[in-house]
Amino acid sequence: MNQIKPNSLAARDIAYHLHGYTNAVRQEQEGSLILTEGKGIYVHDENGKAYIEGMAGLWCASLGFGEERLVDAAIRQMRKLPYYHTFSQKTSSVTVELAEKLIGIAPVPMSKVYFASSGSEANDTVVKMVWYYNNALGRTKKKKIISRQKGYHGVTVASASLTGLPNNHRDFDLPIANILHTDCPHYYRYGQEGESEAQFAQRMADSLEKLILAEGPDTIAAFIAEPVMGAGGVIVPPAGYFDLIQPILRKYDILFIADEVICGFGRTGNMFGSQTFKMKPDIVTVAKALSSAYLPISAVMINEKVYSVLRDNSGKIGVFGHGYTYSGNPVCAAVALETLKIYEERNIVDQVRRIAPTFQREMRRFADHPLVGEVRGVGLIGAIELVKNKQTRESFAPQQGIAAQTSKFCQELGLITRGMADGMAFCPPLIITEAEIEEMFRRFSKGLDATW
Ligand code: PLP
Repeated sequence: MNQIKPNSLAARDIAYHLHGYTNAVRQEQEGSLILTEGKGIYVHDENGKAYIEGMAGLWCASLGFGEERLVDAAIRQMRKLPYYHTFSQKTSSVTVELAEKLIGIAPVPMSKVYFASSGSEANDTVVKMVWYYNNALGRTKKKKIISRQKGYHGVTVASASLTGLPNNHRDFDLPIANILHTDCPHYYRYGQEGESEAQFAQRMADSLEKLILAEGPDTIAAFIAEPVMGAGGVIVPPAGYFDLIQPILRKYDILFIADEVICGFGRTGNMFGSQTFKMKPDIVTVAKALSSAYLPISAVMINEKVYSVLRDNSGKIGVFGHGYTYSGNPVCAAVALETLKIYEERNIVDQVRRIAPTFQREMRRFADHPLVGEVRGVGLIGAIELVKNKQTRESFAPQQGIAAQTSKFCQELGLITRGMADGMAFCPPLIITEAEIEEMFRRFSKGLDATW
C-alpha cells in the first residue's frame, strides 16, 4: 500500500469507516484498496489500476461489473414504484413475479418464497421458521439445529451461531443455545491414514447420527449445509456424502436446509448445488447471485410440508410475526428478475459447464507447487490450499498469514483473490472467458512465487 496522503480517500476511510472482516489496526496503518468502477471481470481502483476480480466480489457478482440491463431494470422500477413492503397482505407486482419465477426453477418442489436482504437474514429467518414450525406441531423440545464445523451461514446472531468458524464466535458470546456443529467433511484434512473417500463419507454420516442419538432425536429440528462449503475453504463434499446424510435426517424427522447462498444460480455447473450433489432439501436459502449482487436481496424457499404448518399456525395465533422492512423490495426484486432472465437467455449453466474444465485445469496445474497441499473445486469455484509441508500436510501457523501474504502479492499484480485460513479461493464472475481464466492464473502464479 502506498503512503497515505492527508485528506485522500484512503485517509478519510481510516478516519471514518469501520470495515467488516478487517484487522482495524492494520487498516489504520496500511489503508484500504478503494475501488471506483468496474467492467466485465475487472474492477478499477481510484488510481485507475485494473484488477481481475477473481472472487466476483464476495462470491456474488456473477454477471461481472457493468451489466447495463440490471442498471436499466433498477431505474425502471425506481421510477415506477421504488418501495413497497410485504406486511399485512400487501406486496408489489414485481415481487410476485420473482416469487413465481423462483418456485419455477427451485431444485426440488417448493411451495413458497420468503424474501430478505442478505444471506444472513435468510438463514436467520430459517432458524426462526424451524422453531415456529416445531412449536406449531407441539414439539417444543425439537429445537436444535445441526450445522457443520467450517460451515458459513452468515453473521447475524443466529446465522453466525450456525457458522462453524472460530472468528465468528470468539468474543461475540456465540454460538447461542440450540445450535450444534458436526464434523467438516474435508477428506484431505480429516481423512484418516488408509481411509478411502467412501469410508470417510460413511464416518462423517455415522458421526452425525451419533450426535443426533446422543442429544436425542426428539431434540433435533434441522440440519443445515452448503452444497460446497465456501468461506470455510471451498470444501467439496466427498462422493456419496449427501446420499448417506439424507436418510439419517429422514429417519429422525429432521428438516434439511440447503444454504445455496454461494452455490445457487449456476456456480457448480447446475442451477443449484443441490442438483450437483443430489440434495433434496425442505428449505433452500439463496442470495448473492440472485441479483448478481447489484442490489441486496435474498430468499428462503420452503416446501409444502413446512409451509402448511406455518400457514395453519399463523391462522391459529393470528400472525406469522416476522418480516423485514425491505423484504421483497420491488427495486431489488426487479433486478433479481432481470438477472434470472439473463441467466436463462445466456444459458448460464451451459456457459459454466463449457468453461469450468479450463478453470479446473488451470487451477490444478498448481498441484505440484511446493507450497500447495490440495487443489479442489467444482464448476467455477475452487481453492488452492497452501501448506508448510507437502508430505505431512502440516499447515502454516495462522500468525504467518500465508494466504493473506499471497493475496497481497496477487493484488499488487492486479488480481483480487480471497485468502482464507489455509488457502486461496477462486470464484470468478460466471461470464469469465477462457483467456481471462488463463490470465487470472498467470497472475496468481506470479503472486504465489513471490510468496515462495
Ligand atoms: N451463506 C453462505 C453460504 C455464504 O457464503 C454467506 C456469505 O458469504 C452467507 C450465508 C451470508 O450472506 P450475507 O453476507 O449476504 O449475509
